[in-house]
Amino acid sequence: MKKIVITGGKGGVGKSTVAILFADKLVRENKKVILCDCDVECPNDYLLLGQKLAKPIEKVFAEFPKLIKKKCKKCGLCAKTCRSNAIFQAPGKYPVFIKDLCSACGACWIVCPYGAIGPQKEETGQIFTNRVKNNFWLVTGMAKPGLEETGPVVTEVKKFALKFAEKNKVNVTLFDTAPGIHCPVVSALLNCDLAYCVTEPTPMGAYDLNLILDLCQKLKVPAKVILNQADLGDKRKIEKIAKKFKTKVEKEIPYSRKLVEAYSKGKLLNFRL
Ligand code: SF4
Ligand code: SF4
Repeated sequence: MKKIVITGGKGGVGKSTVAILFADKLVRENKKVILCDCDVECPNDYLLLGQKLAKPIEKVFAEFPKLIKKKCKKCGLCAKTCRSNAIFQAPGKYPVFIKDLCSACGACWIVCPYGAIGPQKEETGQIFTNRVKNNFWLVTGMAKPGLEETGPVVTEVKKFALKFAEKNKVNVTLFDTAPGIHCPVVSALLNCDLAYCVTEPTPMGAYDLNLILDLCQKLKVPAKVILNQADLGDKRKIEKIAKKFKTKVEKEIPYSRKLVEAYSKGKLLNFRL
């Protein structure tokens, strides 16, 4: 089973469109495909596919720190250890956990010499599944509104999709990531076979392509470039950046009014890549 990521540093370049059209192309080539929407803060593949999210099939949980005051000796070790700066401790006072910054890594309760921090399980997200058509499933991850660190949710959604893929003997699982190069994108990219980095021929597109190709290189995920709206700008800069990372523009997608209309009506499956 192949694990392919559809990513691209910049938002609005057509990642989801490419992911959906690519998934549909593979299905028409008689492959069994899962499209896993890893943009957990704002998943929209289901809308573009004209699907509804019914009841979640699974809930995602994470463990956050909770102070057991009577055991705490105010030694300060937990605050010194936290790399997310999610623990504030004024001199001589108890540590205070700042949930918005906490990545639920567990380091603080591991280092506390007095067992004064207990992990507390909390729901951080939900997973939904849709059968789009024969041999085409959509797995959608959705983080709880307001959750700052969504990387762990992506990790769980990815785990679920891979188990689902194994059970249904799927040939290809596509992971559609959030824009950017932050933690949720890293989580989606880890241990995948290939990344398609979608971009557009604009200065911002070129800048963000450089960042995402650099990230793929660091994570040792082979990457190729897909140039969307290829005829609407100067593509030389994109080609230059692809060359810098020893890859190439694998596919150019010209601007298409028909595609834009299909996108806005949630009828992308009427369009062929
Ligand atoms: S490491 Fe443990 S004992 Fe020390 S301040 Fe943190 S919670 Fe309290
Ligand atoms: S779980 Fe990790 S990120 Fe959260 S407060 Fe503890 S050390 Fe910091």
